[in-house]
Amino acid sequence: MTIPEIFACDVFNDEVMKERLPKDVYDSLKATINEYCDFDPAIAQTVANAMKDWALEKGATHYTHWFQPMTGITAEKHDSFITPTKDGGVIMEFSGKELTKGESDASSFPNGGIRATFEARGYTAWDPTSYAFIKDGSLCIPTAFCSYGGQALDKKTPLLRSMQALNKQAKRILKLFGNDAKNVYSTVGPEQEYFLIDKNFYNKRMDLVIAGRTLFGSPPPKGQHLKDHYYGAIRTRVSNYMKDLDTELWKLGILAKTKHNEAAPAQHELAPIFTTTNVSADHNQLTMEIMKKIAENHGLVCLLHEKPFAGVNGSGKHNNWSLSTDKGVNLLNPGDTPEDNAQFMLFLSAVIKAVDNYQDLLRVSVASAGNDHRLGSNEAPPAIISMYIGEDLERIIDAIDTGSEYHSEKVKRLMYLGAHSLPKIPLDTTDRNRTSPFAFTGNKFEFRMLGSASSISDANVVLNTIVADTLKGFADELEVASNFNEALNSLVSKTIKEHKRIIFNGNNYSAEWVKEAEKRGLLNLKSTADAIPHFKAEKNIELFERHKVFSRTEVESRVEIMLSNYSKTINIEALTMLDIYKKEIYPSVNKYITELGNAIKIKQDVLPDIDIDSEKRHFKKLVDLNAKAKKISDGLDKSILVAKAVVDQQERANYYSKKIFASMQELRLVVDTMENMVSKEYWPMPSYADLIYSV
Ligand code: ADP
Ligand code: MG
Repeated sequence: MTIPEIFACDVFNDEVMKERLPKDVYDSLKATINEYCDFDPAIAQTVANAMKDWALEKGATHYTHWFQPMTGITAEKHDSFITPTKDGGVIMEFSGKELTKGESDASSFPNGGIRATFEARGYTAWDPTSYAFIKDGSLCIPTAFCSYGGQALDKKTPLLRSMQALNKQAKRILKLFGNDAKNVYSTVGPEQEYFLIDKNFYNKRMDLVIAGRTLFGSPPPKGQHLKDHYYGAIRTRVSNYMKDLDTELWKLGILAKTKHNEAAPAQHELAPIFTTTNVSADHNQLTMEIMKKIAENHGLVCLLHEKPFAGVNGSGKHNNWSLSTDKGVNLLNPGDTPEDNAQFMLFLSAVIKAVDNYQDLLRVSVASAGNDHRLGSNEAPPAIISMYIGEDLERIIDAIDTGSEYHSEKVKRLMYLGAHSLPKIPLDTTDRNRTSPFAFTGNKFEFRMLGSASSISDANVVLNTIVADTLKGFADELEVASNFNEALNSLVSKTIKEHKRIIFNGNNYSAEWVKEAEKRGLLNLKSTADAIPHFKAEKNIELFERHKVFSRTEVESRVEIMLSNYSKTINIEALTMLDIYKKEIYPSVNKYITELGNAIKIKQDVLPDIDIDSEKRHFKKLVDLNAKAKKISDGLDKSILVAKAVVDQQERANYYSKKIFASMQELRLVVDTMENMVSKEYWPMPSYADLIYSV
């Protein structure tokens, strides 16, 4: 089969709908999908039948409501299509109700206190804007997941709400420019980083199996230092994996486009072509799942953790974000005419203002125990939010800010938006600042702080909402202006003056920037425990309520979920560390100590005159280190008990962040030193070099 034949062959997409649905049903469904029209329940049965017939032809036996609870991964419960007949046989049936609504016995999904057990039912509701697809013999129906009372318990619901909010406000702005676009969508192309290692080595590392990252391990002699892996020729085993992966993704209609080796050994990247944000979020979840599944077929394991190996580059996810009209016009594309550019400058200043005002929310949206290892290290953007807009735009902004002349293309122009005298904006897209957490890259923004394992929904809910809110403020002001051009001009220059501090085009990895950012009053929320409480700051609850993205209760429940997830993650890591230390490392080191001691004794007996001081020192150092590690592990054991007793979720998270994490680091340091002193034969698990050069 050719790729166009393979592409989306397992998707109930537009082409299939057109072919299999009566015209009026098709038109009604399309209006729901493209124009945010309410779904007409009368068509549900017809759509369900068509879906079922199509799925059966494709060999499916089951259907499932596929949803995205607050675990960050997807959930599915499969029901077969069988319905008993009177004569003891079965027929295959699927009702409109089964398509549109599911009741899930879902009391064990994270709910942050929203759902008391007496009303433990959760509901899944079909999201027609994301196509149904077949996976592993089941018809998967993308759904939103909410509580009995209608509160969102998932990642999809707020994302859809935020897209609606953005649509509403962006259209108001466009109208002012005489643009009658029917709809505005946010679009996203997420670049996904991952590691591939050999499954045999993986199985020997309980830390990788349980925590998804190594909790011990001394650095390999060679990491990413020679920069020879980035874009390097792809080895056969990896290439075979990537080919299979592409094929599986294409079957599901996922626009897998770019693949390459990343900076660290064993690290790779996959980027799809961008699409509407909610579809992109669904596709990214599927991509992560399929990456792991295909790896198994190749005797590999795909690690999506943000920091599988200390001292080796970690993995992130670059969220390329823009705004598009239903006609496919990119609103963050500076246009060719001064009029287009005035509109572009307004959207640009809206993003600048949004990012400055809601640095805290953007930071929370990427906060996780795993991502804490990256943000602020020398490989990922720091925990400080700032924006890179490139030199050309910065000069334009400076000119607007100071009301001075703008020098470009050897033409001097006075920057005056209102008169639409803004010249063609030259954009040097090659000049990209790779250190910036939020960079304008020619016709879109690239938010680079996301962790590789996380759902892209959280970040995009925030992005969509904060930009919607800023656009709302702009529209409120401009709609009542007596002179639109003048009002526009002063609004853009006022916005830029007030929010310029968020723009930083320099090196975000430098120590000077941390100081400079502090001077500018920018937030630096170092850990997840520090960041989470900002989510429920009053101004943020008001923001979410204003745009009906989250209710107060939903915000509060999410804070609970995030805090508890953070503490639990570190707790699991600490317990895993202790287990490995006590059951594998401590006894192994003791065995080696015994062997060393015996060797020293024999040498002394046989050759009493030889110099074995160095061996004795080595022996003593190892004895001391293992005793030290034992002491730290005993302390860690006790601290875990203390943590468990802390009732307040925030205090507990703080305790894990400060106390438990520090003890873990201490234990690791001692163990890693011992790893370099113990015979490989005695060391109970594969080394970093074994792992990252295993494929
Ligand atoms: P780089 O590695 O240079 O940042 P890539 O080509 O790897 O670039 O990734 C760029 C990503 O941005 C792709 O997923 C691409 O589809 C996406 N993208 C391009 N234009 C838009 C847009 N208008 N909206 C959202 N994403 C976009
Ligand atoms: Mg990129």
